[in-house]
Amino acid sequence: MDDCIFCRIVKKEIKSEIVFENEYVIALKDIDPKAPVHLLIIPKKHIVSINDINKENLEVICKIFETIPIMAKKFNLKSYRIVSNHGEESGQSVFHLHIHLLGGRVMGWPPG
Ligand code: 5GP
Ligand code: ZN
Repeated sequence: MDDCIFCRIVKKEIKSEIVFENEYVIALKDIDPKAPVHLLIIPKKHIVSINDINKENLEVICKIFETIPIMAKKFNLKSYRIVSNHGEESGQSVFHLHIHLLGGRVMGWPPG
């Protein structure tokens, strides 16, 4: 996906602050953080959103979820929230699957 910003970040064509990388995923700092710690965990493979997860690509979700506690430990988060937006009305602005990992402040519930 040549015009996908996250594919371009994965290929290192666009600079970003990558804090973790393996064969399947990268984790990077969000460019516009909504909390003291705001990471995006992204599959290297282009998948539009959580709504496109199926039997064939399920492994990617396992790899993303495996990364979450690793990042929580790395950033000393005792408490955190994960969010994944699907569709414009939910707030999705980049159409390459990503999990937001937010921490370092008290978070309201329910979210707006
Ligand atoms: P969404 O709105 O799709 O749920 O989340 C997209 C996130 O990607 C936003 O929080 C936005 O700040 C972040 N973002 C957009 N472009 C870039 C970029 O070029 N670099 C980084 N690090 N984050 C980005
Ligand atoms: Zn992409």
